Amino acid sequence: MSGVIKKLANAPDIYFIPFPTKTDEVYIDVYFRGGMYDEPKKDAGLTHTLEHYLWTMFGEKVNYSIETNAQVSGEASRFYIETTQHKAIAHMQAFFNSLFTPDFTNQDVFNRERLTIINELNTAFNDTEDRLHYIFRRTL
Ligand SMILES: [Zn+2]
Repeated sequence: MSGVIKKLANAPDIYFIPFPTKTDEVYIDVYFRGGMYDEPKKDAGLTHTLEHYLWTMFGEKVNYSIETNAQVSGEASRFYIETTQHKAIAHMQAFFNSLFTPDFTNQDVFNRERLTIINELNTAFNDTEDRLHYIFRRTL
């Protein structure tokens, strides 16, 4: 079965993609269809805030002991972890619980991530060309 993409479930769609060579590493990507372009103007930044909050809450749950990351684009939000076969089930449970049954009560994380996002925005949009590119893509 090596090298064959296998669909394991629908709604959400779950795929298993084996590595071409045997390895202990397990990579899990979760994509949500929906990103910054889907936000109503009055809620601009909500997707980015949600991405930071969920990523941080998961990271704290596993004490940042594994590689994890998240990104938000115009069309999608992505969350990702790297683990090992030995710990994959435990890490997947914690990861999926963080994403699908999140705890939104941690005000400290919200406040900290809000400042991080403001900092990112100041860095990412510090030149006119980047800002115009963003506005242009958003209006497509
Ligand atoms: Zn960010």
